[in-house]
Amino acid sequence: MSFANIYGHQKQIGMLQKAMAQERVGHSYLFSGPDAIGKKTLAMAFTQALNCENAAERYDSCGNCSSCRKMIHRNHPDIHVLETQAQFIRIDAIRNIQEQMTFKPLEGRRRVFIIDDADKMNEQSANALLKTLEEPSADNIIMLVTARPYWLPQTILSRCRHVRVNPLAVETVAQFLIEQQQMDASKALLLASLSGGSIGQAIELDSEDMIAYRTELSRLLSTASLRNPMSLLALASFLGQDKKEIKQGLKLLNTYFRDALVYKETAQASMIINSDDLPVIASLACRLNGEQILQNITLVEKSNETIEMNVNKSLTLEAMAFNLHL
Ligand SMILES: [Zn+2]
Repeated sequence: MSFANIYGHQKQIGMLQKAMAQERVGHSYLFSGPDAIGKKTLAMAFTQALNCENAAERYDSCGNCSSCRKMIHRNHPDIHVLETQAQFIRIDAIRNIQEQMTFKPLEGRRRVFIIDDADKMNEQSANALLKTLEEPSADNIIMLVTARPYWLPQTILSRCRHVRVNPLAVETVAQFLIEQQQMDASKALLLASLSGGSIGQAIELDSEDMIAYRTELSRLLSTASLRNPMSLLALASFLGQDKKEIKQGLKLLNTYFRDALVYKETAQASMIINSDDLPVIASLACRLNGEQILQNITLVEKSNETIEMNVNKSLTLEAMAFNLHL
């Protein structure tokens, strides 16, 4: 993967390329940010660029040279990715890295160790790694990747250059889905807006289940009314019990209110996320004024935050349903 093929993360890429241009690449990096938003991809692209035979001036990898090809096929002898399904990264794995660091790189200019989920290091492993970070060697670079940097000891954090990776913009995720997954624009926008800025999450959401879920939510939303309390309870209970599921449902719900607002202001179906569900959007836009829709959006967002705090989920959702303008 070259930098040029990465969607988004322009600021971070610029920072890494600048370090290459100024020949001030660090010995240890920490890529942090929420799960599945491209931290490791960024670290891999940086690694490939650092070892590419044609990276001079462009500060990006070519994808064709011998080093790039080995990197792409994951058999570059100087590039090591440490990943584990286990609960901890054990000290043996760190000792193994230390041992390899005593030799010169075999082929590449830099030997790179990428430690994914670095927060899985137990205390012993972290202490061992700290020793390595304290005695940097010119040929070796260590890149830590983590969604939970606060679980790493301060002593390690302070020795790394931080690359803070943010969730992608909705438009960027949608662009990826359209260009790389040949998805039509409205579906891409819907999945992107539910993805939390993660391409991986958007792809995972692209399933029959998701479509069926939205169809049912749409039906409940169009029939919910204060005059019929059962309809509100049905909406609340449909949003579920599981925290992750609820948060997904609330995001989806808010795409309807967001759409209603956009439709009210522009009357254009093309700007709408749920454009294939236009009658429901148009009906909301017709029944509610702009202020009411905005209040709904705020209420759903607040409920989403409350759910995060492990409160009584059913009560939160019911209170929300009874306070929505519908
Ligand atoms: Zn190359």
